[in-house]
Amino acid sequence: MKLSRLRFNFGFLLEADYGTVRRIDLDYPSIRLSEDVTLTPLQGSFTASRTTEGIYIQGEMASSMSLECVRCLEEAIVPIHITLDELYYYPPQHAPAGEHHVGEDGMIDLAPLVRELSLLSLPIKVLCKPDCHGLCQECGANLNLGECGCPDEAIDPRLASLGALLRTVPNDN
Ligand SMILES: [Zn+2]
Ligand SMILES: [Zn+2]
Repeated sequence: MKLSRLRFNFGFLLEADYGTVRRIDLDYPSIRLSEDVTLTPLQGSFTASRTTEGIYIQGEMASSMSLECVRCLEEAIVPIHITLDELYYYPPQHAPAGEHHVGEDGMIDLAPLVRELSLLSLPIKVLCKPDCHGLCQECGANLNLGECGCPDEAIDPRLASLGALLRTVPNDN
């Protein structure tokens, strides 16, 4: 699996004076961050600020994810808006446990943060549309495409009588 990159070299910023800020614009038609997260598209911008503790990342990104509707199992395009507000410590050994840090090589990989924020922004129930009718419990038809003709009863009486008919078929042997 080939992953797209959301890695940035901030070596120059680490050398710069405290308070130096760089703005970076992003515009990916589609970017695969992990096995489970592909963002299409990913647009936005962020600033990277050199602070005494490292590099502070702030920004906004907009995207969408293609997921499966929990009711009808068809594709659901879920819009995503995330806010980046994260300090990447430098040098790395100064980062408290569990905190992000700039790599020894001056690189920051934003993919784990963007992936996490994207997943956190998803609704608990992903729906293709708010009033999705889902699938028929009996025949599995997509009820967004119209009524399937199944009766409301839990057991279709036509199937029940068919079952009775099959049981009465004589055995030839
Ligand atoms: Zn649906
Ligand atoms: Zn049905």
